Amino acid sequence: MSSVENRNDNLRVTRHPLIEHKISLLRSVATPKKVFKELVDEIAQLLAYEVTADLETEPRTIETPLETMEGAKVHGSRIVIVPVLRAGLGMVEGILRLIPTARVGHVGLQRDHDTLEPADYYFKIPPRVEDSLYIVTDPMLATGGSASAAVASLKRRGAASIRLMVIVAAPEGVRRMNADHPDVAVYAAALDRELNGRGYILPGLGDAGDRLFGTD
Ligand code: URA
Repeated sequence: MSSVENRNDNLRVTRHPLIEHKISLLRSVATPKKVFKELVDEIAQLLAYEVTADLETEPRTIETPLETMEGAKVHGSRIVIVPVLRAGLGMVEGILRLIPTARVGHVGLQRDHDTLEPADYYFKIPPRVEDSLYIVTDPMLATGGSASAAVASLKRRGAASIRLMVIVAAPEGVRRMNADHPDVAVYAAALDRELNGRGYILPGLGDAGDRLFGTD
């Protein structure tokens, strides 16, 4: 049975046996790159179901082989998936499988030499459409610096409705998102214990980008 743990902050952790099974495999150091990539994709697809659970639908009249009825239509093109480069890319295909007409933007971030805060070096999103929902993807919400900066970049360009989809969240990142962007719900498959001194999530799964792309 699926359940979403809603807390006082903007975090929603999806509890589902399939997600718990897949995330355990994802965490294992023994999981090879190919399987790791497939699991990220599958978990993103399952999370997409949750992230879009309250999407508005429009009535549409359809003919079944037997009679006419009122069906429903989701405006997929109003959904914009925004992976944070590079690990967020691993979550895009899984979401697109559920919402094939969604559009995709990209945000690349790097640390600004002066402020030491992440600033975007690459930002390309589809032209703005009224009522668009932006789903920012990044498998790991660690300090929250990158996610917060990506959301701030989207807001500067006029995005009003934004959700963040991560696989593993750390309490530090959740607090940062809650402080910087209390209007942005964070959807996660797991909430872990803490960050270590090097900014890795514990117990975590290591460096998601390296494990996705084989750069470790
Ligand atoms: N990014 C990762 O890929 N892993 C962590 O544990 C933290 C940030």
